[in-house]
Amino acid sequence: MQLNFQKAIAAQPLWLQFVEMIAVVDLATYWIHRAFHQLPWLWRFHAVFIHANLRWRFPGLHRAISTPQYHHWHHATDADGIDKNFAQFLPVWDVLFGTVHLPQGWPKHYWVAHFQPPETYLGQLVYPFRSPGSTPPQD
Ligand SMILES: [Zn+2]
Repeated sequence: MQLNFQKAIAAQPLWLQFVEMIAVVDLATYWIHRAFHQLPWLWRFHAVFIHANLRWRFPGLHRAISTPQYHHWHHATDADGIDKNFAQFLPVWDVLFGTVHLPQGWPKHYWVAHFQPPETYLGQLVYPFRSPGSTPPQD
């Protein structure tokens, strides 16, 4: 059975294998990312990440691929943006699992504004193990 599955995949055109690989990896990272928000002990690891403050998107593609605007909403504390946009690359996962949020504008508030991570690299490395830390924003 497994061998037949591998042969079926290998018999596909390379471009299709590539598209399937991107979809499978992105689906896995969607759920891993979501777990980082749902499980407090994992949240401590995620909270120390600081995202770049880029304000741009790909016009016409911003609903097909994750852009900085898409990810800005992931870090918003605006009520309608909390626990949204977990997808790393393909927003289709957020559409399928009901976590997509992409209005025209930008968030007014970000949870990172309320979180002060340790300033040193070493401090950020040990932060998840030392502090009960912040918690993900809640509705
Ligand atoms: Zn996140």
